[in-house]
Amino acid sequence: MIIKVLGSAAGGGFPQWNCNCRNCVAVRAGTPGFRARTQSSLAVSRDGESWALLNASPDLRQQLGQTPELHANPKHGLRHSPIKAAVLTNGDVDHVIGLVNLREAQPFSIYGTDRVLDIIKSNSVFQVLAEPLVPRITLPLDKAVPLSGAGVDLGLTVEAFAVPGKVALYLEDASAGEDFGTQEGDTIGLKVSDPATKKSFFYIPGCATIDEPLARRLKGASIVFFDGTLFTDDEMIEQGLLGKTGARMGHISMSGPSGSIAAFSKLEVGRLIYVHINNSNPALDENSAARKAIDGAGWEVGYDGLEVRL
Ligand SMILES: [Zn+2]
Repeated sequence: MIIKVLGSAAGGGFPQWNCNCRNCVAVRAGTPGFRARTQSSLAVSRDGESWALLNASPDLRQQLGQTPELHANPKHGLRHSPIKAAVLTNGDVDHVIGLVNLREAQPFSIYGTDRVLDIIKSNSVFQVLAEPLVPRITLPLDKAVPLSGAGVDLGLTVEAFAVPGKVALYLEDASAGEDFGTQEGDTIGLKVSDPATKKSFFYIPGCATIDEPLARRLKGASIVFFDGTLFTDDEMIEQGLLGKTGARMGHISMSGPSGSIAAFSKLEVGRLIYVHINNSNPALDENSAARKAIDGAGWEVGYDGLEVRL
């Protein structure tokens, strides 16, 4: 299995277009130790020919340009795409908007929970990807399903599972109480497996907390790509960027007693890679104390173009 990180930043990317925080200024200036990042997406393939996207970010067109494996292959004729499927983990703008880049009458399949597929169905702009050319396929929870699209079996399965999280920001219902109307299926994690080799990895770009069932599921995994939005829960408030904590946005922080570093310290995962990293996160500075703490805990900070073979 080949896994490529197409985009490792959270919504807004790095630098974010309207941001003058310390990190964004530094990366724009080309300061050593800072690397620009596009928004959140992975690609996975068993054979290197047919690929599935895991989320479709607004930066997809740029990501495709930077990833030769995803270019149209001339041996398949005038029009071709190696992308046979796109699997969505939630309805966030940074995870679904890239779908519209895949128009031009090219067949592929869109996988998501009913909650997320309902967003695609109710927003008419996504009709540029009309069925039956681009079928929507419901992902059940806790059941591995084979991935296919455009008549191609990718030779991989994907299992969706609910993770603690929040409904997409633009669907928040303030009158619905503390969880803003969040329902099961609004945020999922994915386990992608190769049945032939029995190898698998987890992709969880959005997660509010690691509860007991999630910890049990991830224990002993070979690789987990995990939500690295914030280093500390209140860093956006502290930096004067936004009056919201990570917890309020549905994202666990890296540090602290209830952060992901602490939670994973007992889970014996082979390789831990942060993705979906917000531009406010001090870990984006390779020379920061935050980065040293992450390195010391055995985590990697994902970057665009990172390739993992499994
Ligand atoms: Zn910034």
